[in-house]
Amino acid sequence: MEDLIKRAAKDLAASKYAIALTGAGMSTESGIPDFRGPKGVWTTNREAEATAHRRYSLFLQDPRAYWEDMLGLKGAYGTFYEEIRQARPNAGHYALAELESLGILKCVITQNIDGLHEQAGSRRVLEYHGSIRALRCLACGSRFAREEVSLEELPPRCRCGFPLKYDVVHFQEPIPADVIRESEREASRCDLMLICGTSAVVYPFADLPRVARFGSRRPVADIDVVGHRAGVKIVEVNAEETPLTHGGMSDYLIRGKTGEILPALCEALHHSL
Ligand code: NAD
Repeated sequence: MEDLIKRAAKDLAASKYAIALTGAGMSTESGIPDFRGPKGVWTTNREAEATAHRRYSLFLQDPRAYWEDMLGLKGAYGTFYEEIRQARPNAGHYALAELESLGILKCVITQNIDGLHEQAGSRRVLEYHGSIRALRCLACGSRFAREEVSLEELPPRCRCGFPLKYDVVHFQEPIPADVIRESEREASRCDLMLICGTSAVVYPFADLPRVARFGSRRPVADIDVVGHRAGVKIVEVNAEETPLTHGGMSDYLIRGKTGEILPALCEALHHSL
């Protein structure tokens, strides 16, 4: 593992535009469970996964019932969000913020809804699946900080009159177009992608490594030959192998905890700069 950390440090030092993709594994060491890891919320409770898949249609059909569920008035999800609110960044989040302040990492694209990258000091963060710290209007696209909106009467409403939902992107819900556009721009521009703590099975986020490697989201005839972006490095830091490892999309996997490997990577980088 130490050799791989040194290798990644050299690759980062040589990169001109490195970006990070992160997932729930980044925050397990902050006490927030992931969904699909061995102790994940869904690994241990299949019903929780089924409920999550119904949440977006619940909002569309009955926004008040959605809010009652989300606030924990009925069901357990509100409690999960409260747990997230109490969590603090761990050494992995701080290491990515340090890589940004060194000028090496240009942005973090995260699936996490917990806001811990910003809390750790990362400045350029794209929240691909939204954030629990904001509410969003599906009609006009406005976003509001959670504290700005009263939840005394449910559902809360946007200035345009439409019910607000959490900014969090639920299953079956389209990702906001601005976030997709910006993330794909970053992926197609990077020369190194550091992928941390994600099972890489949630799409379209899991297409971003493909965008980095080939400049395109989905396989097109011969694109692997035509569109190959030479020299792009894709490095995974994860507790287990993922489809990116098996499918050969990543160049190598540094297997272990992000809260240990990323600080070690920063340390090794200081030696190779
Ligand atoms: P996931 O649960 O599908 O996968 C997490 C991956 O991280 C697994 O491969 C697991 O083995 C690995 N892992 C767990 N702890 C690790 C650690 N300390 N170091 C390295 N690897 C570790 O998560 P995902 O890929 O992010 O997708 C889940 C979806 O759920 C996302 O859409 C995300 O928005 C949401 N989610 C977010 C949070 C959060 O905001 N913290 C928490 C749970 C789920």
